[in-house]
Amino acid sequence: ITNKMYLVMEIFQVSFVVFLMKIYRVPVQQLEIFLTFSIPFFLYGWAVVTINRKAAVEMYGNAHQNYFYMSIDGLSHLLNRRSWYDKGQGLFTQEKGLSFIMLDIDHFKRVNDTYGHECGDVVIEKISSVLLEQTRDYDLVGRLGGEEFGIILPHTDKHDALEIAQRIREAVEQLNISYEGNTLHVTVSIGVIENRAEIPNFGALVKLGDKCLYEAKERGRNQVVS
Ligand code: GH3
Ligand code: MG
Ligand code: MG
Repeated sequence: ITNKMYLVMEIFQVSFVVFLMKIYRVPVQQLEIFLTFSIPFFLYGWAVVTINRKAAVEMYGNAHQNYFYMSIDGLSHLLNRRSWYDKGQGLFTQEKGLSFIMLDIDHFKRVNDTYGHECGDVVIEKISSVLLEQTRDYDLVGRLGGEEFGIILPHTDKHDALEIAQRIREAVEQLNISYEGNTLHVTVSIGVIENRAEIPNFGALVKLGDKCLYEAKERGRNQVVS
């Protein structure tokens, strides 16, 4: 409780006792003794409320920070694999009209081999920013593994999901990524799948998205397959 709430409660309590003492015609002297004793009790209560409140606020802050560290990927600042799956599973059971985008950076190994791992990390960061820019607040964007990303699009049919996927693909293609004086260009392959009644669970939806992604790679990369 806040100190203000405590003050109100205390005033009410003391007034109530004084009221009862009046009704039972307790002598004024005893009333005074009661009021005098009430002061240190009040101060003690005030201190307890203040200290507990401080501790509670700190605990809440820590819990919030822990939750953040546990659910957000450190490099991309997107949802990590576990929290993405948890939230995705929740959305899947609540809302059937959703679509799923699975995305993988093309020939990413070459980036690492040519410019180094650190440059690869920069590419992951840049592409993650594109994913956030090109999606809506309620879409679920996660880093599922090394250079692989998943997006759940609630209230979205195949037509709109394809449009978003193409927009992402083009935005990545047009990115100029600067690293130590070099300008890099990368592309992504994307699988898109709309949820259907016959898809039994979230895992099956992800598998189908992965299949589409594989097909996009097979067809020559830098493309969207649904
Ligand atoms: P494809 O077009 O078929 O997807 O080819 P690819 O080279 O992108 O795929 P492959 O799976 O062969 O290589 C993925 C590479 O991604 C291998 C791994 O070292 C690298 N990688 C995974 N996680 C990270 C990361 O966090 N940072 C960096 N820099 N590289 C990573
Ligand atoms: Mg790849
Ligand atoms: Mg991959």
